[in-house]
Amino acid sequence: MFHPSLLFWVVLLLSVTQVQILLVTVYFHRAMSHRALELASPARRVCRFLGWFLLGMNPVEFAAVHRKHHARCDVAGDPHSPVQYGAMGVLLKGIILYRREASNPDTIAQYGQGLPCAFEDAFYCRHANLGLAVQAIVWVSLFGLPGLLAFVLVAAWIPFWAAGVVNGLGHAIGYRRYHTPDRSTNLVPFGCWLGGEELHNNHHADPSSAFFAHAWYEIDFGGWLVHILTFLGLASLRRTSPPTRPLAALLRDRYVWLRKFRTASAFAHATANGRAPIAVLRICIPGLVLGAWNHRLRQLVTGDVIMEQLRSMDVRLCELLHVRHPAPVLAAAFDGFCADLRALNAPALNRWLTRLHGSAIAATA
Ligand SMILES: [Zn+2]
Ligand SMILES: [Zn+2]
Repeated sequence: MFHPSLLFWVVLLLSVTQVQILLVTVYFHRAMSHRALELASPARRVCRFLGWFLLGMNPVEFAAVHRKHHARCDVAGDPHSPVQYGAMGVLLKGIILYRREASNPDTIAQYGQGLPCAFEDAFYCRHANLGLAVQAIVWVSLFGLPGLLAFVLVAAWIPFWAAGVVNGLGHAIGYRRYHTPDRSTNLVPFGCWLGGEELHNNHHADPSSAFFAHAWYEIDFGGWLVHILTFLGLASLRRTSPPTRPLAALLRDRYVWLRKFRTASAFAHATANGRAPIAVLRICIPGLVLGAWNHRLRQLVTGDVIMEQLRSMDVRLCELLHVRHPAPVLAAAFDGFCADLRALNAPALNRWLTRLHGSAIAATA
């Protein structure tokens, strides 16, 4: 029997677990659950086989549970919210919560629709645990008892890191780039260990995007793989054409524009008070600007005319983004919001408006 060195084990296990992670983030999560990219048939079939062999996971179950998480995020009905179960509860029991929801036929029926499938899917579904059993046999055949230990580690990897760390800590600790209605957080800016899933708040802000990095210093390994697959012709992005109207652009990337609006507001307020350098500093320090904005709202709103105006516009923008009005009412509210924002005559806010309109104009050019 083959007796490998410690270095061999480290390299082998790191390789296998990184394949698992990239499989989950690119195939199960971005391609199947959110349909952010379309994998070419050969790539999808390889992923489906690896998902069965390495993870024992069914993409329909994964997509259904995960879509329900997005639909009910951090409120009643969320399959694995730290608000309900506590961050440590999800961290340690994430896989139990996942399995429980995956066995709920109502969840599968409501959220598990619209996934591409191949004829071999029926085999994988009928023999869901066979893949893991074959994998265990391969490990033991090659390495004996150490192989069995390696299999246990590999089998526990995704339940701990994806179902536990991402689903638990990704709604509890870290920084928030976007003020999404849920509690999602970016664990760290460098998505190298969990294939970019570390950037969970970015993902909740823009779930239909195949890319999770939203700043130059953020790294998304899964996004890099998507670029490679696209370059090789093994995948295509589904969301390719930007919206052609400003309101549609605003609604599609609502948390991106909201974040930019608050940055512009903080800048406009500081500029009006003769403290532009402080505003620049805030804008340059990631994550600080939103906290500063909320703090300033609480501290300065009383008696500060400019802040009152900005706060009023912020409330109107949030209503535009979150309240489901009929289309004509929404369009009229958006036009009124733009007119009143221009009337404030703040260069930073005017630039925000120009960029918003420019994003749509660029789409029609
Ligand atoms: Zn989440
Ligand atoms: Zn998602």
